[in-house]
Amino acid sequence: MTRILFAGGSVFDGTGADPAPADVVVEDGRIVEVAPGLDGDEVVDCSGTTLLPGLFDCHVHLAARYDDDELSVAHRPFSYGFFLIPENLRITLALGITTVRDAGGADAGLRRAIEDGVLVGPRVQVAITMLSQTGGHNDPWLPSGAVSPDWLPYPGFPSGVCDGVEGVRTKVREVVRAGADVIKIASSGGFFSPADDPSHPHFTQDELDEIVRTAADLGRWVMAHAHGTVGIERAVRAGVRSIEHGTYLDERTAAMMVERGTWLVPTLTAGDTTETLASDPKLAPEIRAKFAGLGRPEFDAMRLAAEAGVKVAMGTDCPVAPHGWNLNELRHMAANGFTPQQALHAATLSAAELMGLERELGSLEAGKRADVVVVEGDPFAFDDLKDRIREVWKDGVRVAGRAADAEGRDAGRAAR
Ligand SMILES: [Zn+2]
Repeated sequence: MTRILFAGGSVFDGTGADPAPADVVVEDGRIVEVAPGLDGDEVVDCSGTTLLPGLFDCHVHLAARYDDDELSVAHRPFSYGFFLIPENLRITLALGITTVRDAGGADAGLRRAIEDGVLVGPRVQVAITMLSQTGGHNDPWLPSGAVSPDWLPYPGFPSGVCDGVEGVRTKVREVVRAGADVIKIASSGGFFSPADDPSHPHFTQDELDEIVRTAADLGRWVMAHAHGTVGIERAVRAGVRSIEHGTYLDERTAAMMVERGTWLVPTLTAGDTTETLASDPKLAPEIRAKFAGLGRPEFDAMRLAAEAGVKVAMGTDCPVAPHGWNLNELRHMAANGFTPQQALHAATLSAAELMGLERELGSLEAGKRADVVVVEGDPFAFDDLKDRIREVWKDGVRVAGRAADAEGRDAGRAAR
């Protein structure tokens, strides 16, 4: 068995401790030792670098791109979008993100293609689509009588619209049947939908309770898109695993989340394009109007959550901001209530816990899967962190990086 030795670096193990000098030995896809002065058969020179656990993005849409406006999607062949996905995977992996939760758009086929090595990408849990009430954030209805081309149903990708206790129960079962790892819902209106209001609660308490109960029976957790306070509150009361966005979180709802152990996935990076979108002529005027003058209320929510002690996991909502901007999230968390260490914890072990993967991933410890990111310079200087990611390893295989000498060596192996 080949022992791959990551030699001479510092290790941020993901548990929250400061980086300390140590080597890491990987065998057969797993970390077997973390300590100074180890030996190995194949050496990865890590002097001057810090090793991080593979990073997580707990809210991403791998099957969409920033440039996918409604008009261009409507006028291209249906299958074209699938062929754009590998580039999104590559961009995401190159940032050191080796595990993601896809919050809608990616189906079970993408997960399987990555698992089987057909595509090189981060491991992924898929929500497939998003449950939404009639007129809600995932209702494709358009006032013209046309239907939005985003998230059109196809085999393995059901429509997300559902209403009533029985309707939501059936829909959860349908999405699970299609292979969903997690159930995504919208318990408030959203920004990218023309006919709803982000401050309104969506789904009644009865409907939300039924969604969480049905999902739990089938071994799934629920992630709730929620901007407005009542939409957050109802979802937390129903027992969702995480609140996505949480834009108008207040002290009372933050306290509820602490009490119930609900995660917040703040998706602060999505706000990096708010101003641009407010004047983007390719968006419907109703959508542009929601972005106009919005500012960055999500920063206030993040500070409040940090102060209250809400569990936070990193998620970006890319490509609301383009794929590749994901690490902005670390900078935003660290500028709004978190220490840099807390931000990296949110992107590693806390995220692994949110996704139920903490026994396998999230920290550099013996026994865990060998997802390793080799970073040059200061790992807490987030502004230019993405330019200093030298190598990315997933399950003990080098899957991304820019070290010239390693390119040839590992490209073939990574592709298998
Ligand atoms: Zn999203």
